[in-house]
Amino acid sequence: MAKLQQIGLPDGRIFVGGEWREGRGPEITSIYPADRSVNMTLRGASRADVEEAIARAGKAAADPAWRDLLPHARAAILHRISDGLTRHAERIAQVQSRDTGKTLAETRALAASAAGTFRYYAAVLETEEEALTPSRGSYLTMSVHEPIGVVAGITPWNSPIASDAQKLAPALAAGNAVLMKPASWSPLVSLVMAQVCEEAGLPAGLLSVLPGRGEEVGDTLVTHPAVGKVSFTGGTEVGRGIAAKAAAKLMPVSLELGGKSPTIVFEDADPDLAVAGILFGIFSSTGQSCIAGSRLLVQRSIYDRFVERLVAATKALRVGHPADPATQVAPLIRDPHCEGVERAVAAALAEGGEILCGGARPEGAAYDAGIYFLPTIIAGLPNDAATCQEEIFGPVLHVQPFEDEAEAIALSNSSSYGLACGIWTRDFNRAWRVGRGVGTGTVWVNTYKQFSISTPFGGIKDSGLGREKGRQGLRAWQRQKSFYLDTSGRPHPWAGLAA
Ligand code: NAD
Repeated sequence: MAKLQQIGLPDGRIFVGGEWREGRGPEITSIYPADRSVNMTLRGASRADVEEAIARAGKAAADPAWRDLLPHARAAILHRISDGLTRHAERIAQVQSRDTGKTLAETRALAASAAGTFRYYAAVLETEEEALTPSRGSYLTMSVHEPIGVVAGITPWNSPIASDAQKLAPALAAGNAVLMKPASWSPLVSLVMAQVCEEAGLPAGLLSVLPGRGEEVGDTLVTHPAVGKVSFTGGTEVGRGIAAKAAAKLMPVSLELGGKSPTIVFEDADPDLAVAGILFGIFSSTGQSCIAGSRLLVQRSIYDRFVERLVAATKALRVGHPADPATQVAPLIRDPHCEGVERAVAAALAEGGEILCGGARPEGAAYDAGIYFLPTIIAGLPNDAATCQEEIFGPVLHVQPFEDEAEAIALSNSSSYGLACGIWTRDFNRAWRVGRGVGTGTVWVNTYKQFSISTPFGGIKDSGLGREKGRQGLRAWQRQKSFYLDTSGRPHPWAGLAA
């Protein structure tokens, strides 16, 4: 494990429109969830810092040197950022692991994916085409896309470098100036991202990284008249509040929110594949994942056998230190979050649920210093129990049986959320039918929690609004403008001027 001084943490200053300086907002403390030691205490952004960053972003976005930069030239900057993320990948992985408690194996993968995201949007930018539309008169019609101007990304603590890249890369590619607001529990890696962008030659003012309180920094970004779009990833209630404020100023928002995603196992599923995929789907990232497959539905004919096997495999998972390459389940991010998971398990018991494994913090010297919680499986509750309806965002899975396809679809859809669904079956016709029948933004068949920057992602219902990733991810950060160019050279006949 690298020592704190060797990791290359940022120096505690925030990035306001191209200038590194001490924030004027309240203090933020980043801790290492593996032992609760303090990584760093820094001053976050104040409302005045945010307003200054917005003013600088406005100037930078309007500067013809950026606004009119040709796509291939803008793409070159994105490539340099991608190269920088690759060069700094190990440092980014270490910083993010310190900030969130995620395993180094996971944060290394996230750093690589962030670099890939910038490369992908550089390629999209260079290859995206504007369309001539079929003309219905003596004119040429076309539709072009222009930057929005000043835009903001508000991100949660669970995968900061990936969430940052997912917003920042397409927003810059689209020609905007971007204000990023990381979560208070994980401010550090976004500041490293700012260093990488600066090193890559991104002109000053085009990026600000403003850690701070959601109600102050986040709210200023959402309500400020100069900010033209907000992309938010986080909890559903906060997202709903942001959408209401955005509606008042008629601002587009994109919302990536919470989930309670079902995984359906049919009796013909390959049990080895299904068990491995289900474990990964719920217990990787210690369940702190929007797409965690937290509701398992198993066909009744195989229910007892399958659940027994799943419980045995869950008990064998290695809970441990984030820097240990053998660790599968690392600490949770903070004590208040772990206490919330404990409360959810207690509530499941009070509802009449039965704990099949886990349900508590692990015991032993290796776990005393950190914020650990055992992978937990609960059974015996109806789908309308709070345990099956509310997001826990921890390593807690509920299992329940179903009879047939129709019931599996009905149970899946009986949720306020609609983010993702997993289906395990050898029958691809059935996978297709069920996949089309469930109300979620993503469906995984015989796999789970796979991601690709080239495939759009987002939720429906309480899981969100809009899509990120994919080619259309670029257009989500632009405005469309239509042109009519006269080709007749004659006055309009209505005016009666023509001979
Ligand atoms: P959160 O909603 O508490 O915070 C998210 C961000 O919003 C933080 O930066 C926070 O400071 C900011 N914020 C809080 N109040 C605000 C306000 N009033 N105005 C503006 N900004 C405000 O979420 P969290 O606890 O950081 O993250 C966990 C949640 O994020 C879970 O619900 C999870 O499902 C969701 N999430 C969703 C996705 C997705 O893509 N669908 C991905 C990751 C996480």
